[in-house]
Amino acid sequence: MEIIGQVRQNDQRVKRRLLRGAALGGATILALICSGAGLPAFLRPAAPEGESDASARLPSAAAPAPGGPELGGGLPFGAPQRAQALGLADALAGYARNLKHAEALRVAAAKSWGLPRVPLRAPTPPRRKPGLVSEPGHLTGKGLPPVLVQVPTEEKVVFLTIDDGAEKDPELLRMLRELDVPFTGFLSDEVARADYGYFRKAHREGAGMQNHTVNHRELTALSYAEQRAEICRQQDNLEREIGERPTLFRPPYGAYNRDTLRAAASCGIEVVPLWAEEAFPDRIDWGRGDRRLHPGDIILTHFRGEAEWQASMPDMVRRLLRTVTEQGFAVARLEDYV
Ligand SMILES: [Zn+2]
Repeated sequence: MEIIGQVRQNDQRVKRRLLRGAALGGATILALICSGAGLPAFLRPAAPEGESDASARLPSAAAPAPGGPELGGGLPFGAPQRAQALGLADALAGYARNLKHAEALRVAAAKSWGLPRVPLRAPTPPRRKPGLVSEPGHLTGKGLPPVLVQVPTEEKVVFLTIDDGAEKDPELLRMLRELDVPFTGFLSDEVARADYGYFRKAHREGAGMQNHTVNHRELTALSYAEQRAEICRQQDNLEREIGERPTLFRPPYGAYNRDTLRAAASCGIEVVPLWAEEAFPDRIDWGRGDRRLHPGDIILTHFRGEAEWQASMPDMVRRLLRTVTEQGFAVARLEDYV
């Protein structure tokens, strides 16, 4: 279980399956571990040719294990079970080796991306998502999605959110993948649609892709029906293009009114995350006077690049991660908390 405790933050779904699997018996655990599920693709064991189901490679509890009769003599359980237990120990050892290897790759990645320190790993996400209410000073009401700038948590985690979708820099995805840093995109169709493939790829690699309206209009200037069209139509666009219907919505410019929240709720939106800080390649705009991150802070930045910033998206991430790590925080996945 100690090894399972080391499972990376992005492996939490697998971890939950592993823990559940313990109740079902070693074979289930072994199946999950041997499949390499949850490990980065490059660490997963290759499936033998023509075999897609990892469980097909497992020693079957019913079938005699190789060398069964010799192994089984004098033991409290039979040869197949013992072989299975040995297989489980081997698989756990292999899994630990893979984790160590993944960590070594992350250390190397931090160095190659010019980070002074390796980003901290996020802790295990909460078993149950915290109950949410709107931040003080924000609109609230029955049936309206809560408006947040910070997720309620005691953990030293912050959340990276990237808006609009104009710049589609493959280096950004490579950097965040290599460092194993999660993020959530809030996409506006008007700029994202030039290449939804980029965001599909990010989503496949674990990023959340959420709603930032169709045309990036200032919603408070629009009628309820117009606002609803801006939000609901982007729900449809993202479901079609990304393959998953968003549950989070961020209004452009953070500008919203009661109609916005009513419209968002009617489109299936559950939470409206705004932000506490904004990250740029050369600075962080702090939401509070203490110029410090607070547990659960949502950080905003944008898919932008050289044209607007005279710097790249990896430059922005490098600057941000330096501060996040210096202040003892890890970047967690927003969708694990809200
Ligand atoms: Zn925006």
